[in-house]
Amino acid sequence: IREPEQFAFRAEITQLLHLLAHSLYQSREIALRELISNASDALDKMRYVALTEEGYRDQAEGLGIRLEGRDDTRDLVVRDNGVGMTREELVENLGTIARSGSLEFLKNLGESKADLSLIGQFGVGFYSAFMLADHVTVRTRSYREGQGHEWRSDGTGQFEIRAIDKEDRGTEVILHLKDDLRDLTKDYRIKGVVRTYSRFIPHPIRVGDEVVNDVRPIWVEPKGQVGDEQHAQFYQHLAHRADEAPLWHLHLAVDSPIQFRAVLYCPRTNVERLGFGRSEHGLNLLARRVLVRDDCRDLLPEYLRFLYGLVDSEDLPLNVSRETLQDNTVIRRIRGALTKSVFDRLEKLSADDAEAFRTFYDQFGPILKEGVVSEAEHRDRIAPLLRFASSRDESGKETTSLKEYASRCQEGQKAIYYLGGPDLASVRKCPNLEIFRRRGIEVLYLTDPIDEFVMASLGTFGGKELRSIDSGDLELPGPEIETPSAEAGGSGFSRVLELFRAALGDRVAEVRESKRLTDSPCCLVNASGGLSTQMQRILRQANR
Ligand code: ADP
Ligand code: MG
Repeated sequence: IREPEQFAFRAEITQLLHLLAHSLYQSREIALRELISNASDALDKMRYVALTEEGYRDQAEGLGIRLEGRDDTRDLVVRDNGVGMTREELVENLGTIARSGSLEFLKNLGESKADLSLIGQFGVGFYSAFMLADHVTVRTRSYREGQGHEWRSDGTGQFEIRAIDKEDRGTEVILHLKDDLRDLTKDYRIKGVVRTYSRFIPHPIRVGDEVVNDVRPIWVEPKGQVGDEQHAQFYQHLAHRADEAPLWHLHLAVDSPIQFRAVLYCPRTNVERLGFGRSEHGLNLLARRVLVRDDCRDLLPEYLRFLYGLVDSEDLPLNVSRETLQDNTVIRRIRGALTKSVFDRLEKLSADDAEAFRTFYDQFGPILKEGVVSEAEHRDRIAPLLRFASSRDESGKETTSLKEYASRCQEGQKAIYYLGGPDLASVRKCPNLEIFRRRGIEVLYLTDPIDEFVMASLGTFGGKELRSIDSGDLELPGPEIETPSAEAGGSGFSRVLELFRAALGDRVAEVRESKRLTDSPCCLVNASGGLSTQMQRILRQANR
């Protein structure tokens, strides 16, 4: 049967296609980057199959991508000899399976939080083809089958699939270019786009007879020979981004006890903070240059999930399965070494480049703090990186590290004091601060809801206890606090206390004379060892 069969796109994809087709977005060529990236993925998979499945041994050779413009028909073809797709895979991958990314992407576009160039990050990069083309044909044959299939759509709600004869394995995406893009069939234009967006694809990309990209893997090169510009481009390739250099990068070559090479990149913005979902990407894992797994989440702790990069090791078997990855000793060791290197890098950044570190901390500080609360392993590495507003600068502009705070402690001061609240203005109004102001003792102002949990998890820093100033016993340094109320006459005051006790009854544990107030008549404190006020507030909200 050669009759085409009709299918409807999922509703959200129809919506996305409509948006893409009518977009006047300036850099529509990024769609080619997405198609080339898909071709490259298919080649990675083919290489992996050839090396691990019986019967495909000789097929790891000659893998590549070819781009071809056809002036007369206004077509642009992206061709690969990768794994190809079966009929079922075509139906699922290109139109009918729900991809959470498509909805999320639409939402972020609607709220202007994302622009179209980020489409690849949401796992729906293929559809960007409709920014360039008024109809798209995909001809493909899976490496497992003799029968080929063709997918066609004009991007308006429907697509059709029919069986075709296709001699060679792999996929061919044919873009019938929109009228205003007809010069994209010219070789010089195609080469320009490839050089801009896909220079570091690890497979040869041919235009005519020329290989246009730079296939040498940069992570294998000696560190000193890879420039910032190359790193920036490689980062853009991994992160599906344009026009952005990473905030910092790491290039590692480790030989023992485990051999591996790695490059890691830190973005300049935290997409989670923009209201995107939790980042889902991980690192690419390669064994002897062959991609074994993309989005591998086992190579770094959760709270470093914002980093992009790859790891290539000689000591890994090609057939590490998803299940065994976590328990694999090699992976565990690589993870340990990577994590340590990231902290070393951050420490250096905080010492050498205050501004870059500030950008980093503003963007990723909140994620890093999860690392203190969720596990003990690297608390001592994260703690020195933390920054807080403090009473030293009431404007809240200058932040301080715990170490700096400790260096300013008064003689005999046993604790690092902090106060949490919903925002700086309300924290500063707290009457509990009076005694600290009077005595010139610094107090950290915590306004991120997770901060108090961070303090509770740390417990101490540099031998000093971390203590909320609304706890009942403060153990302030210096002489015992003189009590203004005592001078006013003991008996008169105990009458006031009794009145309060009677009025408040069970609602308080105790009513006592305050030694810490100067201007305010009263304050609330928490029993020793109890939760701080802000912490109680947060837990109440969480339980609601
Ligand atoms: P992503 O690449 O993030 O998975 P895309 O929308 O770019 O999302 O592609 C969707 C899917 O279509 C891919 O995951 C892949 O399974 C399939 N696909 C796309 N292009 C090709 C290709 N050239 N060869 C084989 N499969 C492909
Ligand atoms: Mg893709």
